[in-house]
Amino acid sequence: MTHNKTVAAVSTPHGKGGIAVIRISGDDAFRVADKCFRLSGGKSLSSLSGGSAVYGRIYDGDELLDDGIATVFRAPRSFTGEDVVEIACHGGILNTRNVLGAVLSAGAYPAGPGEFTRRAFISGKLSLTAAEAVADIIDADTEGKLKLSRSAASGKLSEKINELYSEILTLISSVYAIIDYPEEDLAELSVDEIRLGLASYGEKIDALISTYRTGRAVADGIETTVLGRPNVGKSAVYNRILGEDRAIVTDIEGTTRDLLYDRAVLGDVTLNLCDTAGLRESSDTVEKIGIERAADRARRSELVFLVFDGSSPLADEDREVLDTLSFLDSDRVIVLINKKDLGIVLDVGLIKEKYDNIIEVSAVTGEGFDLLSDTVSKMYIGGDISLGDTAIVYNARQYASLKTAGECVSRAANALENGFPPDVVSVDLESAMAALGECDGRAVGEDIVRDIFSRFCVGK
Ligand code: GDP
Repeated sequence: MTHNKTVAAVSTPHGKGGIAVIRISGDDAFRVADKCFRLSGGKSLSSLSGGSAVYGRIYDGDELLDDGIATVFRAPRSFTGEDVVEIACHGGILNTRNVLGAVLSAGAYPAGPGEFTRRAFISGKLSLTAAEAVADIIDADTEGKLKLSRSAASGKLSEKINELYSEILTLISSVYAIIDYPEEDLAELSVDEIRLGLASYGEKIDALISTYRTGRAVADGIETTVLGRPNVGKSAVYNRILGEDRAIVTDIEGTTRDLLYDRAVLGDVTLNLCDTAGLRESSDTVEKIGIERAADRARRSELVFLVFDGSSPLADEDREVLDTLSFLDSDRVIVLINKKDLGIVLDVGLIKEKYDNIIEVSAVTGEGFDLLSDTVSKMYIGGDISLGDTAIVYNARQYASLKTAGECVSRAANALENGFPPDVVSVDLESAMAALGECDGRAVGEDIVRDIFSRFCVGK
């Protein structure tokens, strides 16, 4: 049982800094800390109450290494739920290593990746959802992701799943009462009430599942392609969205021959952006491969920015582009009428027949890109959803378990509707509970737990 051992690691990032924090957690945390941290006046850390911070000197045996502040936490009121001492020392790389060395030679074991958070999970301090959210807060590289993971860490999603869990528990116990004592009136809910319960329950799961569209758009990103005939300004648009010169913009047609991928953030939505060669019939083999790839890419894209040159009339090549992409539904497309700074002469009649979202922009001046950002945000973060306040599903594992739970509930509802005996209904409800348990981690397999904590680094 490794989780009873006392472990230690540097919890601040590797590198030079003003301070570094060495976290010690476990049953022997105070004994270990007392050996290497001495307070003036002869008191020991183990005599202090939880939540206090004191100044003292750090020793490796008898050798004075550094001075710093120790903060003590008493189980269960600590991050891990165990006794914890955090020693803040000077942040040099060598100094930090020496202080950690002193802590280890005083009897602590080196903590593995994610060990502190895993212990917090095991001692019931955090649900798995919240533990994952801690990893996500650490990993977040956009404001949107930070908002999502903060709200998950504060338990918004766990709360929702808990609610669902206890509702289904009520349903299931009524079904059992009906199975076990069919003659008596022991069930809390009648069959009709169970039927109604299942319907509303299914709706609640569906509502939660539907938030994944937003969660995924913010956390993982939407596969997005920029398409249009050569020279309309695709690369310029691409660069404007990225805010840097990633694709080479040229006056020579067809120079962007390879697909380029980049991550961009519009509003709070992440775009996995793909630049493509001009979409155009061509005898040039290299160009042709590019065109095929582009059409193929469009087929697999979730969102397409279709670019036209607004400063010139619709060209035959533009019509070909519209034809080639006629398979794209309007809700997957945002049309950008580019080069607004040169004055718009393009007649958008034909484009309007097919697509609803049409925005005039200039990749050179940046005009219109705020509207593009708003449009993308509304597409993915619409309705009542507010990042940070709404419970939003944003990871594939949770989404998959909720889907399973939803399917089980609708199977149970069908079984009830078709007059199957209650034990058939209860089997489906049990599976729904299992899926929910997996979703928030109360019934999750050891392999999944290991997998989740392996995402963390040492010290977290
Ligand atoms: P692509 O072939 O569709 O990728 O087009 P590029 O991005 O290479 O742009 C083609 C030409 O149009 C370049 O000379 C760009 O500088 C120019 N261009 C692109 N966007 C704009 C714009 O919004 N306004 C103006 N005035 N020129 C633009």
